[in-house]
Amino acid sequence: METESAALERGEWQRVSGKRRKTTLGKHGRRTVVAGRPLDFEPLGLPFRRRMGEMVDSRSDLDGHFGMRLALYVAHALTSLDGQKMPEGEAEKLTLIRTLSVADVMGFGYLRLAHEDEGRFRINGGDPCPKCKGKLPKKMLVDLFDLPMVVFDEEPRVRYRLVRDWKFRDLKVETITVGYPTVATGFLKLTDEMFNRTSRRSMEWIAGSIVEINDTPMSLTLDELCSVSEGGRPLSDIDFEGLDEAVDENIGGPAHAIRYDCPKCKSDLALRLNWPTGFFGRSGG
Ligand SMILES: [Zn+2]
Repeated sequence: METESAALERGEWQRVSGKRRKTTLGKHGRRTVVAGRPLDFEPLGLPFRRRMGEMVDSRSDLDGHFGMRLALYVAHALTSLDGQKMPEGEAEKLTLIRTLSVADVMGFGYLRLAHEDEGRFRINGGDPCPKCKGKLPKKMLVDLFDLPMVVFDEEPRVRYRLVRDWKFRDLKVETITVGYPTVATGFLKLTDEMFNRTSRRSMEWIAGSIVEINDTPMSLTLDELCSVSEGGRPLSDIDFEGLDEAVDENIGGPAHAIRYDCPKCKSDLALRLNWPTGFFGRSGG
């Protein structure tokens, strides 16, 4: 292991395990989701979705929390995980869900949605094309089974070598290995706005994704990641960036946006799939 790490240049990362593969939600399978974890669900139908919409809306502090809505939905829809029946209570279910990778939860959610709507998902466009300023369709129907997704053949791990020295718990840190970003790594705390690339998101995800330091199994909190040991210095910005890239390499699951061509200028455009208004919003009506 040591020789392998030594060969890694500063500021570079290398994949330790988990081969990335591109597929679609439909091709990947309509029953099982992402990363080899068998997830089962039962049809819940419109009455559940209406109840779900009300439940989420009644928790004003969660309003707009994309990840929380998705996790709540998954908590209610998921009946078994790894062949084990899910616990009854919502809190117990959420605790379990926090151990899942973001990709699992996203994949599960979209797969459910695809089933309930026979694959169709209505999304709101409406903004003019950023290239030609031409009008784009207000509503689009997307076949979720065509949604691109990334899967790994085994648990993905990426090792990164720091550019600058960093001391943590009296340890001179040289390499940091990151694994799956899980739901617990901040996904539940993210608002829609934060879901976009922000430094906060990056830091949460990096902290929660760390599985090894200097090739020794270790986990650390966001506070620890941002801490400065006596006489030491904080983890450098350049290493935060490098680690952010390493974590991105381990993000699997379905795409959060669909790509399509502008009808006028044929530019390649992306439209984000919006869960809160596209799903829960509609379910109340
Ligand atoms: Zn255009």
